[in-house]
Amino acid sequence: MNLKKRVMSLMVAGLMTAGLAACATTPPTTTPAGTAAPTTTAVATTTPSTTPPATTAPTGEIKFKPGTYKGEAEGFHGPIKVEVTLSETAITDIKVEQTETEGVGDKAIESIVALIKSGTTLKVDAVSGATYSSKGILEAVTAALTSAGADIEALKNKTAGPGGTTGDVEKTTDVVIIGGGGAGLSAAMSAHENGAKVIVLEKMSRLGGNTIISGAAYNAADPKRQAALTMTDLEKKTVEGILEMTFDDAKVKTWQETLKQEWKEYTDSKKTTLFDSPSMHKLQTYLGGDKKGNPELIDVLCENTYPTIEWLEAKGMLFKDYIFTVLGGLWSRAHKPEKPLGTGFVQTYEDYIEKNKADIEVLLDTKAEDLIMEGGKIVGVIAQGKTGKVTVRASKGVIIATGGFGANVEMRNKYNTSLWPDLTNIKTTNHTGATGDGIAMAEKVNAGFTGMEYIQLLPMGDPETGSLSGNIEQGVQNRIFVNKEGKRFVDEGARRDVMTKALMEQTDSYMWVIVDKNSYPTGDTINNFNESIDDLVAAGRAFKGETLEELAGKIGVDPAAFVKSVEDFNKAVDGAKDEFGRTLFDKKLDTAPFYAGARVPTVHHTMGGITIDAQAHVLDQDGKAIPGLYAAGEVTGGIHGTNRLGGNALADINVFGRIAGQNAAGAK
Ligand code: ADP
Repeated sequence: MNLKKRVMSLMVAGLMTAGLAACATTPPTTTPAGTAAPTTTAVATTTPSTTPPATTAPTGEIKFKPGTYKGEAEGFHGPIKVEVTLSETAITDIKVEQTETEGVGDKAIESIVALIKSGTTLKVDAVSGATYSSKGILEAVTAALTSAGADIEALKNKTAGPGGTTGDVEKTTDVVIIGGGGAGLSAAMSAHENGAKVIVLEKMSRLGGNTIISGAAYNAADPKRQAALTMTDLEKKTVEGILEMTFDDAKVKTWQETLKQEWKEYTDSKKTTLFDSPSMHKLQTYLGGDKKGNPELIDVLCENTYPTIEWLEAKGMLFKDYIFTVLGGLWSRAHKPEKPLGTGFVQTYEDYIEKNKADIEVLLDTKAEDLIMEGGKIVGVIAQGKTGKVTVRASKGVIIATGGFGANVEMRNKYNTSLWPDLTNIKTTNHTGATGDGIAMAEKVNAGFTGMEYIQLLPMGDPETGSLSGNIEQGVQNRIFVNKEGKRFVDEGARRDVMTKALMEQTDSYMWVIVDKNSYPTGDTINNFNESIDDLVAAGRAFKGETLEELAGKIGVDPAAFVKSVEDFNKAVDGAKDEFGRTLFDKKLDTAPFYAGARVPTVHHTMGGITIDAQAHVLDQDGKAIPGLYAAGEVTGGIHGTNRLGGNALADINVFGRIAGQNAAGAK
């Protein structure tokens, strides 16, 4: 855990803007086993003021005694201290000193502080996954306000909409974006840099959608970073295998032609570093989705994924220097952000929005329900805010970026025709807002849909929550999966659907991910979800053994079968034929300590959605663009075919979010 003390001073957000600085993460967090819930005691100190005491005006407006007041309460990791500055009618600033978990508790605090300030209210919900931090900040601010003599009951009962508004709200802008996840926020940056004023409507109390709780792997062929990797013979065979295939689609044939030339240049050069190129990425994306993806869209995705990394980097996004292979990514081209989970992406979007808040407004807690269509053109959105209807008219365009429907069991069952068994009781990695709202809105304006039956499951869900947290793999090469009998059962470098189907055939659809010291050189080493292996072991979410036999005993699998599985795998690393046809290897599993973490199938991504063209225009059921309407991200269909490659989602949402923003702003 990073307990670095941080002092946060949040400037007053524009009054009509609900928390531009607001972003809370909801990575599923677990109270470590045996940890008592922190008690929340609030204390306050008063700064003397010479102004009259606070009252609640007869009109209902809450009056304050201007000044700065201190308050303190317990958070998850220690005290949360605040200094609250009041004018006669508003909370104008809240300075916070806290030591909450980076990327989780601190984000919840930012979000809550922004909502308290924008609405001058204490009626703010806790951020799920960060309950103690949420409670702590509310208690601390309440303590400060109590010392100011403020009417706490009135503040706790004051319902405030975006920017503290009450009742219905009407707004106009150039571009309205529905959804503040990765696609919506990259679209917001792009629309703005192409000259548009933007309003983002987000139904949750935080920005970031699934991005902020994701492992955040981003695929792109990147010769510079990939130069650190060596090409194996099995990887050479993968390229040669693709070159031998026959394709019908004219565009796909051109990719193969390009790949042939690139491969010749590569082999002539006698290079030993990993080969990759946009053509290789396109062909793997197309093949990984059973040739059902639209080549036009795949072309745009893979041509733009590296330039979009550069676009994000220019806005402050930091990626690590190394490349890895993400689960189901099939190739080492995944980029890992410097910051944990997807917080680096969301911070980048938010920093941009904060800098340009005169032109980009974010309305949290505002759920879009209908598109406004006039004369065949989409001209705005009707949403429901906390206190009433929010109508936003857009002179240039509306972008749907509402994500998928992984968290909507009814929709999953409606569209899951035959590819999976009943998905009713399978959990999801998704945030609770992934309910397919954009699909419903688009249906009402006759939009076309593509591939709705293609739902992605991962074999990597936490058995309790279905989330990705607690996943101990650090990349594909250096881990295996074993079932409850201690036996491997699949190529662990395969497609996500292939691995999940194989897992569903094992006892209780349950498996263990096995890694060794190479993945966790020290107990402090963290996984993709900012959890250290020592913490996971202490919480009973991972198991550790100094020998393979000891680990087998701890996880209750047959030691002899388990040891043989690892030994056979190690022989394959040394060049023996792998019994499951695995091609992605690095080091042997032979260095203690060994670790195991349990995993089950979980719903992750819905590949199907609104039909778009390469410029992110929404197409109607006859394939014609609906004027004024764009879509980007998981709400769209047709890019990934039956199965999305791991690491292609972050690429997709940023590439197409950027294109949608640019086009909606009228740049093209
Ligand atoms: P993507 O990866 O495509 O950006 P996400 O699921 O990560 O998709 O983000 C979509 C965002 O859209 C989420 O923050 C979600 O809460 C938001 N959202 C979904 N439905 C609505 C709606 N009806 N109105 C406003 N925001 C919505």
